[in-house]
This record gives sequence, structure tokens and C-alpha cells, in this order.
Amino acid sequence: MSGSSCLPCEMEHAEEAAVVFRDDLWACEVVPGFDVPGWFVLRVRRHALRIGGLTERELATYGRRLRDLVDSVTEVTCAPATYTLVFGEANPHFHALIAARGDDVPEDRRMAGILRQREDRRDRERALALVPAVARAYHRRALVESK
Ligand SMILES: [Zn+2]
Repeated sequence: MSGSSCLPCEMEHAEEAAVVFRDDLWACEVVPGFDVPGWFVLRVRRHALRIGGLTERELATYGRRLRDLVDSVTEVTCAPATYTLVFGEANPHFHALIAARGDDVPEDRRMAGILRQREDRRDRERALALVPAVARAYHRRALVESK
């Protein structure tokens, strides 16, 4: 499975406005269908199945990318909690959904209930509006790594 049948693979062709960063191994974008403001998807850039399909180099860099993104999303949204969700079922191409959980999210939609935000809180325009600030925060952190 690849290309048009795989949503994470399709994100290689995402509009520039949706892209937080791309490096040789990892990318992060606002993904159609998951475009709740404060939600971002970190994905490996090749079609690798589940975490077990990652190479040693992908595994070694995943933690750093994830930390920098979670910290950046938290900084920009000021959310009291930022979740990382990995299911690997509907889209087994390895990826993680990073979801800022704001104060405005009701109790029954916190933790495992967070995905219910997809039902009525999707707002692509507001989701994309956060991309430049998250990208700046991310690149500032990524620079520290390269020193
Ligand atoms: Zn794929």
C-alpha cells in the first residue's frame, strides 16, 4: 500500500500552508479530516508500517522530533495538555497525532474522548493559521540539535 491509498503518503503533496516542517526522515502537517485547530500529524516520510517498520535512524530521531513538536505546539497554543496519539490501525503508515487540548475542551472530550473533536471542531482555516508560529517554534528548537 502506498501513494493514493495511504493518507500519510498523500501528505507528501500537501499544500505548503499545511506544512510545519520536512526533513529527510520526518514531516509534520495539518491533515485534512484531522484539521482541528491545534492538531498536527508527525509522520515518517516513507511508507513504513507501524513503529516496528522504522529503521534505526528513524527510531533514533523520532523522540527528538516528537519532543520538539509537542513543546512547540504547547508553546503556541498555551494548552494545559498536549496529547500524542498513535493507533496504527486505520492508517498503519507510522505517524502520531499531536493534539493540543485547550481549556475549552469539555471533560467528556479529554484524554480518550479527544477524537470526538473531529465531529464538530474541525476548522481548516484556524488550524492552518497556527502553522507559521508552530513552524517558527519548531525550527528554533531544531537548530539547537544541529549545534
Ligand atoms: Zn504510506
